[in-house]
Amino acid sequence: MDSAVTVKDVTQVYVTEERATLAVEQIDFTIERGEFVSLIGPSGCGKTTLLSIIAGLIKPTAGIVTVAGRKVSGPSTAVGYMLQQDYLFPWRTIEANACMGLEITGTLTKETKRHVLHLLEEMGLLGFKDYYPSQLSGGMRQRVALVRTLATEPELLLLDEPFSALDYQTKLQLEDLVVETLHAKQKTALLVTHDITEAIAMSDRIIVLDPNPGRIRQTFQIPDDIRQTTPFEARELAGFHALFRRIWQEFGGHEA
Ligand code: ADP
Ligand code: MG
Repeated sequence: MDSAVTVKDVTQVYVTEERATLAVEQIDFTIERGEFVSLIGPSGCGKTTLLSIIAGLIKPTAGIVTVAGRKVSGPSTAVGYMLQQDYLFPWRTIEANACMGLEITGTLTKETKRHVLHLLEEMGLLGFKDYYPSQLSGGMRQRVALVRTLATEPELLLLDEPFSALDYQTKLQLEDLVVETLHAKQKTALLVTHDITEAIAMSDRIIVLDPNPGRIRQTFQIPDDIRQTTPFEARELAGFHALFRRIWQEFGGHEA
């Protein structure tokens, strides 16, 4: 069976009038179906660049990416992208925002709309469907963004620091909700985060990137007991802190 994602020898050079920046160099990894992988590394090491390439928003300078066995050559409904900022439209209701992706892809039907309402219910948002984004908290807005991302039924979710603008308590609640939801729906996910603890708590595997240029430094497989526990509870497990220290040391003094 094909891997959900393959990234092969991917290099990205950004050329501007002043300079050429080697953002990432010869990146190679695969993600299996249903796997949850986190990418961590210091600012500027190319995490967002890699997600944009996998999403088909940037064509890499060199290398090949496949999603669900097909070569990525542009944006596709197979991939859902969720960002730190929710980018909800302030003049649209929560329900209308959640239906955006379906409208854009021309797949808004009675049935897909029912699916959106079901997702809103799962996220505890059904009672807010006629509200506007400004009437919701940051955590609720990110849940709406998650519903909008899931509405088009992508096979792969790309999550670029989706919790980093939230307060700590909300972030912990959302970690649990996201892991539970993606596992139940057997989605594949690639999360970018600055937070080592979050990466350990949520993932099956962590890829640590080095900066200048971005390269894979090391990969950590998360032990089964941590994987089988909710992110919140996993933080209490004996092996959690030892793994945190090992990964922390990989940063060698870099700010994570
Ligand atoms: P991260 O998400 O890990 O912080 P990015 O992928 O955003 O890193 O950036 C990687 C490198 O590429 C950085 O040096 C950044 O300045 C550069 N870069 C990112 N986007 C562009 C762009 N559109 N044009 C020129 N340089 C860019
Ligand atoms: Mg980034």
